[in-house]
Amino acid sequence: MRRRVIAGNWKMFKTQAETRAFFAAFAPLVSRAKHCDMVIAPPFTAIRAAVEAARNTDIAISAQNLHWEKEGAFTGEISAAMLVEAGCRYVIIGHSERRQFFGETDESVAKKTKAALAAGLLPIVCVGETLAQRESGQTHKVCKTQFLDGPGTLTPEEFSRILIAYEPVWAIGTGRTATPEIAADVHKFLRECAAEKFSASPASALRILYGGSVKPDNIKGLMAQEELDGALVGGASLDAKSFASIVNFAS
Ligand code: PEP
Repeated sequence: MRRRVIAGNWKMFKTQAETRAFFAAFAPLVSRAKHCDMVIAPPFTAIRAAVEAARNTDIAISAQNLHWEKEGAFTGEISAAMLVEAGCRYVIIGHSERRQFFGETDESVAKKTKAALAAGLLPIVCVGETLAQRESGQTHKVCKTQFLDGPGTLTPEEFSRILIAYEPVWAIGTGRTATPEIAADVHKFLRECAAEKFSASPASALRILYGGSVKPDNIKGLMAQEELDGALVGGASLDAKSFASIVNFAS
């Protein structure tokens, strides 16, 4: 049985003060949530405040990006070891906004994933098709390429430690959620890709989160699909009550 994960991606939102205020409101609302792992990914500057605010709770902190080198002349970049030192347990890699606006490729995703794993972080690797790709029937082909050229380059041992987030680009921040059936179809397909590349056992243990306009009113329907091992939530994770009601989908 795969343990579910509900993760919040704050993107470029929230100062340190706003982060502390969020946790003060959010932590009591999810203190009895034992049915899933909870993760919050604040911007770099609020990671430390989040780690301190999440102490004595079951909420783990994630970064939203990292560089694959250990250190060096890479202005503006942050290494895996720096994230670990700051208290991160997870890191999101290859989010579609990074692919779209910052030139992230499957190759950089692969390098970042390896660097994250080497430092002991749990990578949440994002894949997903654009609207044009879906409408031209390329969803499986695109997801397979992103899978094979990213996570597919890992060793079996490395692969056993990652999570994948299926995030159709057309559903991110648009209010247009994939139906539970559409999401489940791609999750099942990605699991088949994993079984083909690695083997049945790591594929069936792989946790695949769905992301794309997840809200309090659609989480139950999405989580009713056995193939969906959780959610990566953007906009709705910024509000403590809304994100708590997503985390508490089972109650
Ligand atoms: C995301 O940022 O990963 C995301 C899924 O955003 P939203 O929930 O706002 O669509």
